[in-house]
Amino acid sequence: MNKEIKSIRGMYDYFPKDLKIWNYIEIIFKEVLNSYCYLEIRLPILEKTEIFKRAIGNVTDVVEKEMYSFNDRKGNNLTLRPEGTVGCVRAIIQNNLLQKSNKFWYLGPMFRYERPQKGRYRQFYQLGAEVFGLETEDIDLEIIILTNRLWKRIGIDSFITLEVNSIGSKIDRVQYKKELVNFLKKREYLLDEDCKRRLYTNPLRILDSKNQDIQNLLKEAPLLSEYISFSENNHFKNLCNMMNHHGIKYKCNPHLVRGLDYYNSTVFEWKSNKLGAQNTICAGGRYDSLVQEMGGRKTPAIGFAIGIERLVLLVKSLKIFSEVIEESNVYIIFIGDNNKCHAINLSEEIRDLYPKLRIFINFLHQNLTKKIKNAISSLARIIILIGDNEIKKGFFLVKDLKEKKEYHLLKKELILKIQEIFK
Ligand code: ATP
Ligand code: MG
Repeated sequence: MNKEIKSIRGMYDYFPKDLKIWNYIEIIFKEVLNSYCYLEIRLPILEKTEIFKRAIGNVTDVVEKEMYSFNDRKGNNLTLRPEGTVGCVRAIIQNNLLQKSNKFWYLGPMFRYERPQKGRYRQFYQLGAEVFGLETEDIDLEIIILTNRLWKRIGIDSFITLEVNSIGSKIDRVQYKKELVNFLKKREYLLDEDCKRRLYTNPLRILDSKNQDIQNLLKEAPLLSEYISFSENNHFKNLCNMMNHHGIKYKCNPHLVRGLDYYNSTVFEWKSNKLGAQNTICAGGRYDSLVQEMGGRKTPAIGFAIGIERLVLLVKSLKIFSEVIEESNVYIIFIGDNNKCHAINLSEEIRDLYPKLRIFINFLHQNLTKKIKNAISSLARIIILIGDNEIKKGFFLVKDLKEKKEYHLLKKELILKIQEIFK
């Protein structure tokens, strides 16, 4: 194929079969978010590069290697957003939205220059939610209960598990980082290349390594939880107690850390064992100093993001939805070009009366048998046939493909029949 008309590596087209699942998921998500009074916001896909660098952290994978950044015509350095939280914080500071409402959600594409593989793409969609102004663990719990409800509503709750951890405050982590680096330096020869690099840039990320040898090595390592302040520890304990009380199943994973610098205190991930290496469907946590660091007044915050493609992969692997797409409900076939007008008029009249029906007119130059075959494969419920004879006598020939019955109906009768069938 001509190379120039191929899409960019790691960026995919989405087709109707998959989009049927996407739309179903979206409808459920919107319903659930609405039921918790989270309000939608839509944000630009491009932001100034500087805000990501400052917020996400210069030595994180995202900022170091994964951002799509470029200069615009005036020389401003811009970035295709790699995640949604930073833009959301920028927007609420800029628009003074902190007082008005404190729970938001958004859905849209994100961009990261990563190595494409199953569940990891260069353009992918996230549904995210962010809550501002609440510092107690009640909101951590609400977010976890809310996400749990999403899984239940879609029917994947038994295939996905929750891991939680507390990564304390920045100050707590400074001391811990020193201890961890000390421990790992003594064993540097055992580290893989990635971890060696991280030892000097972002050592906490080593905790989260997928390499089993590294995980074994870490069994002896100092534990972050031992360096966390009393108040942070309390926050986490309270959250765990509340989860127990509300019947939320979870696992404490002391090695769970997040890839972006702005997180603190509670972090969590929902994982599935059905997806292979890219198994995190939803990730989130608190970021209590980000609003202030980005120039707003001190405001605690928490959020999460769901990777929609991974969720769709999971839903597909579980075969929760049938992949059959009904292309039409009513299939109109006209015989002879002079009857095309009647077909169009009739279809418009039906749409006026029944706006939800899907009405398809076959405009192809095919013989009748072929057109009927197409109607059947489009999973239409009824076919309406319009030929000279029908027009002359003022009726329509209607085939009910499900009941396997045929009717000759006046327009009025046809309209009633449609109502009866599709009520
Ligand atoms: P991972 O450990 O999988 O790289 P991350 O820590 O980079 O995840 P976040 O920035 O927390 O991920 O993003 C939240 C969610 O968005 C992830 O859990 C995942 O479901 C999804 N996600 C992240 N990066 C990608 C990607 N490149 N392609 C598809 N989905 C992604
Ligand atoms: Mg990542």
